[in-house]
Amino acid sequence: SPDAVYNFAAGPGMMPHEVLLQVREELLDGQRSGMSVMEMPFAGEAFQAIQQQAQQDLRELLGVPADYRILFLQGGASAQFALLPMNLLPAGAKADYLDTGHWSRKAIAEGGRYVRINVAASGEAHGYRRIPAQTDWRLDPEAGYCHITSNETADGLAYHWLPNTGMVPLVADMTSDFLSRPLAVERFGVIYAGAQKNIGPAGLTIIIIRDDLLRRARPETPSVFNYRVQAESNGRVNTPLTHAIYIAGLVFRWLKRQGGLSAMAERNRRKSARLYDAIDGSGFYACHPRAMDRSPMNACFHLADDALTGKFLQSASAQGLLNLQGHPATGGVRASLYNAMPEAGVDALIAFMQAFALRHA
Ligand code: PMP
Repeated sequence: SPDAVYNFAAGPGMMPHEVLLQVREELLDGQRSGMSVMEMPFAGEAFQAIQQQAQQDLRELLGVPADYRILFLQGGASAQFALLPMNLLPAGAKADYLDTGHWSRKAIAEGGRYVRINVAASGEAHGYRRIPAQTDWRLDPEAGYCHITSNETADGLAYHWLPNTGMVPLVADMTSDFLSRPLAVERFGVIYAGAQKNIGPAGLTIIIIRDDLLRRARPETPSVFNYRVQAESNGRVNTPLTHAIYIAGLVFRWLKRQGGLSAMAERNRRKSARLYDAIDGSGFYACHPRAMDRSPMNACFHLADDALTGKFLQSASAQGLLNLQGHPATGGVRASLYNAMPEAGVDALIAFMQAFALRHA
């Protein structure tokens, strides 16, 4: 088997090696307590310190303003597709959604069970090759919020600009690009992200919400999923995902040691630019999304001869380049380049792609 393995999975994805070593090191004895973190009572001092530190580190990393709350909840991003409208708007109210690909369609399908959705613009007519420009959006003047998917994990598209929705709160599913670059949090009403790409173990869900939006939940909203109730009890309505929060905290620390989000963004830009250049220059591989809307996190591409895709994936795997298959809905190849993917992994992938193209040209 190969010496080094690079995991290009879209999520759960690659974790920083240093963090995994630290988790192993501390597994039986967290914070010199004689206990594993996963054995600690969640309301006890030791775990409370871990949670507070994680929140503070995240606040510093992202520059989260004082009038925003950070919640560590359970259920993943898909649960938020329903919980967002429940927390933000009464039944029958309206909301704008942008349709930019697979995950925004999921958000629209589920959100539509709770609010009346206006699809302000859709990339469908262009085969989801681009993010519709804001000049083409038709926002509903009565919408209670506007929902975007900042990075389309399955289609390989990302916003490289921030929409302006005026007084209407901008809400973003940032599951697959959270912490990959600096962010003007103050431009958003709510940001949410599942953890399994750039943060930590699956299940943990991070919500960042502006204080004034905390009072709108429908009365029937389950308490464990009610943003205000959770914010007021500091996430202790139910047993939080203690071990996952601890690991996310280690990732935040790791990001700080890497130089923070500007440094990450620069590294992520280098990694994706190198890969996209190799694709564009190959004549053998082709990228679906147009250049200006391509995702730095999930590079989605095809082989000119689709019949070779299976062989490509198999040979890549044999060389330790794992989980490169595209999303089942889109097919082809997808290389996810989350924060933990080292530049050497991208170089190894490019070298493999060039050799494969030469062999099969
Ligand atoms: N939104 C986006 C952008 C995603 O990439 C994913 C997972 N791939 C989800 C939502 C759903 O996340 P989960 O499976 O944690 O519910």
